[in-house]
Amino acid sequence: MQELANQIDDFFVKVVRFAEKKHEVLLGNCVSNVKLTSTQEHILMLLKKRPSTNAKMADRLMISAAAVTKALKKLQELSLIASTRDEKDERVIYWHLTHQALPIAAEHAEHHHKTLGAYQKILDEFTEEEKSVISRFLKDLKGEFE
Ligand code: ZN
Ligand code: ZN
Repeated sequence: MQELANQIDDFFVKVVRFAEKKHEVLLGNCVSNVKLTSTQEHILMLLKKRPSTNAKMADRLMISAAAVTKALKKLQELSLIASTRDEKDERVIYWHLTHQALPIAAEHAEHHHKTLGAYQKILDEFTEEEKSVISRFLKDLKGEFE
């Protein structure tokens, strides 16, 4: 079914444009008062759960350590994060949130929540059987990117 293959192709063109320079796809607008990139906000959300190192965050976000360093620098300038050195290994730096960052981290988590809600709303229109086909399709499609 050539037409459906073209629809998938169109879908990716749309998504790539939508997500240009971002590391994630979020639907709807950011309602935080502080102007940050979604990567910077996502880092705040991760750090709210637990303090982390540059390397661990790069791994988790699947972006370069250099990109994480750049984001962290900006967040530090805005006093949204602060660092401490590891007790056992002085070379290891852990980042944690400051009090000011808490509402931004919460807003970002809510934005993710809303995005999943939008997907769920679409899925609610499908039967369980159709959903299992969609799931299988997505698994196979994802496999092409491994
Ligand atoms: Zn946001
Ligand atoms: Zn995020």
